[in-house]
Amino acid sequence: MKKFVISLLTAFITLILSVSGYAQGTLPVLMYHNVTTDYNLVLKDPTVHIMLSTLEEHLVHLISAGYNTISFDDYYNWRKGEKELPPNPIIITFDDGYVSNYDLAFPLFQKYNQKATIFVVASRVGADNVEFPHFTWEEAREMEKSGLIDIESHTFTHADFEKINYARTVLEMRLSKFAIETNLGKECKYLAYPYGKMNEASTAVAKSAGYKMLVVGRDKSADLANENLYEIPRYSIEGTQSGEDIINLIK
Ligand SMILES: [Zn+2]
Repeated sequence: MKKFVISLLTAFITLILSVSGYAQGTLPVLMYHNVTTDYNLVLKDPTVHIMLSTLEEHLVHLISAGYNTISFDDYYNWRKGEKELPPNPIIITFDDGYVSNYDLAFPLFQKYNQKATIFVVASRVGADNVEFPHFTWEEAREMEKSGLIDIESHTFTHADFEKINYARTVLEMRLSKFAIETNLGKECKYLAYPYGKMNEASTAVAKSAGYKMLVVGRDKSADLANENLYEIPRYSIEGTQSGEDIINLIK
């Protein structure tokens, strides 16, 4: 009987610890850019390019380590107390809106049934007269329709907020939001700052424009329960890192 009580007590304490541990948990947000099958590009600039095979290795490692990919909506609704979150949540993001996100990454996320967020530079959607083309609004709609990919804002022209004035700050935030909402028929609620940089007025401008969360630089995980929603930190992931590196980085 005594043994039973002790094991019951241990189970109870473990439960309490795991529940409180979960509440005090962290939320890693990973940042990727262009996906490629050309290793020379990765060698040239691993901060921008990653091999499709490496990205798959990262995803497989994260899944086997027990991470669950979620959307910013999932997180925001949890913070409002309106939704449950899976254990070990993680957000995977891609910046700029390269066509490789549609051609290569999207099928990969479908293969493993995982979620990702793409922050597009709204004025560059469909741009094909550049070194690395961007996917079109039609392709964006197709990805959104899958329920796995969420398209959000990375400003209108990839502005550096440390260098732009107040009027331009308003334009970058509002124009990109408007373009996304018009073309995708949904509310655009989240924005990732280009270069991870914000300015003095940007949080207030974002709030009045209707953004619910903003993503900054800073290589660390967000405090799941308490993070400032207007300064969600994000890890910059490089194409030379292995799946094991990623797990060690975020744990
Ligand atoms: Zn960018």
